[in-house]
Amino acid sequence: MEYLVILGGRESGVGAALLGKRKGFNVFVSDKGEISKKYKEVLLHNEISFEEYIHTESKILNANVVVKSPGIPDTVPLILKLKENSIPVISEIEFAAQFTDATIIGITGSNGKTTTTLLLHHILKNANFNVGIAGNIGDSFAKQVAQQSYDSFVLELSSFQLDGVKSFNSHIAILINITPDHLDRYEYDFDKYVEAKFKITKNQKETDYLIYDADDRAIINWLNKNKTKAKLVPFSIEKELEHGAYLKNNNIIININKEKFTMPISTLSLKGKHNTKNAMAATMAAQLLKARKQVVKESLENFEGAEHRLENVVKIKDVEYINDSKATNVNATYYALECMDKTTVWIVGGVDKGNDYNDLLPLVREKVKAIVCLGVDNSKIKETFGNVVDIIVETAGAEEAVKVCHKLAERGETVLLSPACASFDLFENYEDRGRQFKKAVRNL
Ligand code: ADP
Repeated sequence: MEYLVILGGRESGVGAALLGKRKGFNVFVSDKGEISKKYKEVLLHNEISFEEYIHTESKILNANVVVKSPGIPDTVPLILKLKENSIPVISEIEFAAQFTDATIIGITGSNGKTTTTLLLHHILKNANFNVGIAGNIGDSFAKQVAQQSYDSFVLELSSFQLDGVKSFNSHIAILINITPDHLDRYEYDFDKYVEAKFKITKNQKETDYLIYDADDRAIINWLNKNKTKAKLVPFSIEKELEHGAYLKNNNIIININKEKFTMPISTLSLKGKHNTKNAMAATMAAQLLKARKQVVKESLENFEGAEHRLENVVKIKDVEYINDSKATNVNATYYALECMDKTTVWIVGGVDKGNDYNDLLPLVREKVKAIVCLGVDNSKIKETFGNVVDIIVETAGAEEAVKVCHKLAERGETVLLSPACASFDLFENYEDRGRQFKKAVRNL
């Protein structure tokens, strides 16, 4: 019996354990931290052995194969030892993909993954596809491969998940954009991060498709220097393309496989240029899969966006409050500020992953009347915007930040939480930050 060791006992690890067990492996789960009650119960119920608070090397180094959580860097001693011993270390996605024939649509990018994944899944479901959604969303891919029988999967793939890819392939890969993020995991080397993202096309064949942003410099540079076998399907909001998707007179126009699709952007439920791009990418994938155009259009019109992504919370005394807590890097915040059509009080700050705020200066100059910092160390924000915005206030909690905004914002203006930073200096995670913000707003 093959011996499968799983490092990390959360959603993806426990999913891989369930699938491994079903496929006849002898499975052992090891987590250096605590395994939560929910997952412990699943493991016990399925008679899968595990350990927590420790990685016992003697139980790990004799594995035939190791599935590693994307959260564990390749550079930790245990992983290096496994590699020295020539034991394959793969990701949960890679492991699960061997056991399904479903058509895979893999979605990656620095920003917009969740939105595009949810949108494409929404379209395909409405078009009566037997389609699952996984990756960073909901139940793990492995668990669903073990327990469901979908014909296709829309997968949200982070660069960490792609790092562990060896033979995994997406029939349709979507690369939404590449802008600096998580550089701490890539030795502050942008090229390494770009390489990780492009792993999405590594195993693609001539019959597969790569949908990508033709306005993105990092993507175009890579494509100029490297090869992929996949058919290229570009989208752009800056120029007309003969093949792919582009904008003309505020209409999305798509030309692929000799078929044309047109839709006014005013009817899309999600607003903003970034969401136009997400819509183009999802629509082209749906078209390649032959979803009915009318259904695609209706789905683009009635899609409800995801929580914490430019989410309208409420209007109080004619001031709109918007929760964009998921904006954890500068590029996401750039698009949020770009969408603002009213004078804005901007809540920003948190844990900075090597941010360069200069790209935001023109938008801030044009739209932001006051900055409310919500982080422990706000020095870089004060330094960058001190000469541009008259009012900069430092706060140390969602309630305080919202109260300050309430005082500053006048009728007809907007309060935007779009932090450009991670949240764990003051919050558990971005969801916690978004929820605390919404609660404070509703208590005003
Ligand atoms: P991800 O899953 O890649 O983190 P999300 O869909 O959760 O992406 O969106 C994260 C943040 O990025 C949100 O603030 C959202 O408004 C913004 N965003 C969404 N799509 C894009 C895009 N195509 N380009 C830039 N920013 C985007």
